[in-house]
Amino acid sequence: MNWESTKQYAYKIFSRLWVQWVHEGTYPAETSGKKMLNTILGTLISSHCPQCMNLNGCCFVKEKAPSPPLHDHCHCYMSDISGINPVVECPTEKFSGYIFSENKSGGKKDLFESWGYNIIDSTVLAQEFTNQAKLAYLSGEYYLGNLDQFGQRISILITLPRKVGTGTVSFVSGWMVYPNGKIILTMPYGGKIHETA
Ligand SMILES: [Zn+2]
Repeated sequence: MNWESTKQYAYKIFSRLWVQWVHEGTYPAETSGKKMLNTILGTLISSHCPQCMNLNGCCFVKEKAPSPPLHDHCHCYMSDISGINPVVECPTEKFSGYIFSENKSGGKKDLFESWGYNIIDSTVLAQEFTNQAKLAYLSGEYYLGNLDQFGQRISILITLPRKVGTGTVSFVSGWMVYPNGKIILTMPYGGKIHETA
């Protein structure tokens, strides 16, 4: 990253206003297992809405956040916070067992290989995605994605240098938001955005 873009990121990091979703009376769901449990509990016991329980504790920049109320009798609210300390989880298996899988990748394997990345790069890609997503989330450089009973997804732009040829490729990646500044990669590749020669 060059000095100009470093300055732009620094400015964004310090100028963003952050909010945290509050659903009183339940604990934040920090794992996908707990999110899943909320969706089951929400279906069986109608007193709490799974969508709201799974948003509980999640952090967003003010202008890119889901907004309560989400339904009748929703008592959720947004609390102002000073910022986040991002925690990014990017499982290597998303690359080794999905992108580079013979039968699961749906053409993504060929795409990544055309850029010069192979299954042996899975760890490197996971690290690169982690670094880029951490900076993007910290500076509020994300797009709001689908919101459902599991929670809020966000999209983050990833840029990779071509290992074959020159230039870069940029594409969208999908992440699930978890409480207290945590995001977990759900979809490594969601469509190409931009290429440089
Ligand atoms: Zn609610």
